[in-house]
Amino acid sequence: MDLKDLYQDLIIDHNRSPRNFRKLPDAKHRAEGFNPLCGDKLTLYVNTDGDRITDIAFEGSGCAISVASASLMTESLKGRTASEARALFERVHALLTGASDVDVDGAALGKLAALGGVRAYPTRVKCATLCWHTLAAALDQRAAAPVSTE
Ligand code: ZN
Repeated sequence: MDLKDLYQDLIIDHNRSPRNFRKLPDAKHRAEGFNPLCGDKLTLYVNTDGDRITDIAFEGSGCAISVASASLMTESLKGRTASEARALFERVHALLTGASDVDVDGAALGKLAALGGVRAYPTRVKCATLCWHTLAAALDQRAAAPVSTE
């Protein structure tokens, strides 16, 4: 099995059985994201203790990339600090868009590296980044503001 197949399997698996796919009724932070290009919708719930993300979950519907991306993101972020989360988003964004000014560190990305295949499909990049933009909105508590899907 080559790496590409492995990554594809991860995306399929996380789409079929998304991790942390539930509501956090008492979440401190909450934001909604929408990607009009594809119709992906999600609600993200985040609980924090100080700067640390103690729990994170999501609900929503969308394409396989958007669901798998949110699932992988929530799995990667539990226990991390908000600034670690932002740094990770920069890496993911660089991975997805091929920005050369950010070091794409495969080891730091872990399973999130599975999203690298999306780079070949520029129209799907927003599907993969939706959850991250929604996370930034949730952490900034801009829950009522429209989420950029850039
Ligand atoms: Zn999508």
